[in-house]
Amino acid sequence: MRIVVGHLYPDYLNIYADRGNIAVLAERARARGHRLDVRAIGMRDPVPPGEIDLFYVGGGQDREQELVAYDLAAKADPLRQAVEGGAAFLAVCGGYQLLGRFYRDLAGTELPGIGLLPLHTIAGRRRMIGDVLLRCDWAGETLAGFENHAGRTVLEDGAEPLGRVVAGFGNDGTSGFEGCRYRRAYGTYLHGPLLPRNPWFADRLLEEALAHVGVEVRLDPLPDDLERRAHDVSAERARTRGGRF
Ligand code: GLN
Repeated sequence: MRIVVGHLYPDYLNIYADRGNIAVLAERARARGHRLDVRAIGMRDPVPPGEIDLFYVGGGQDREQELVAYDLAAKADPLRQAVEGGAAFLAVCGGYQLLGRFYRDLAGTELPGIGLLPLHTIAGRRRMIGDVLLRCDWAGETLAGFENHAGRTVLEDGAEPLGRVVAGFGNDGTSGFEGCRYRRAYGTYLHGPLLPRNPWFADRLLEEALAHVGVEVRLDPLPDDLERRAHDVSAERARTRGGRF
């Protein structure tokens, strides 16, 4: 099958090799005989209703977020309709913050979000940097990655976190939660990139994108020894030194 991926602002929001997540999705799809058709969606580009199976947006400094926030907010309706229509969505860090209601950056500027996820974010003086380990009870799995953000994300009523923080700061360094999920949309602070060391999550996104294509399938497992070792090394680093200012 062909899976259409809408990569939002690849030229602006792409730090910590976040674009590597797309490479992992493409390779894991190819290994099962599927093909990723990646389309860049940039400034003033329309969001074609119903055509995109999986949206992706990476992270960025406050400056980049300021450059894209108003253009992204202008795409709020078609993006929300797409997710209500069953499209999958992965948003990392700065991109994750802009899926909420707003992001107030260090300068105090309030950037509009698209209001897809019930949350808002306010930047604080001390950055939350380091390795992170989450427990995702909804999937019976863990996620390991790296975070670097000034933003403190507040989950609002009805918000489902992506995971519980085992080690690291997470959304705000105090709530014990990280990320947010809604339908097939997932927001997280985890960079790294995230997917090479969390293959179960990459497959979950592919399965949900395929469901949007119209194919309900459980993907056959791949020989993920290297990926599992990368996960374990990252998890151990988080346990030993994550979540310290
Ligand atoms: N600029 C945002 C913050 O500092 C997001 C940073 C990022 O994407 N790594 O919180």
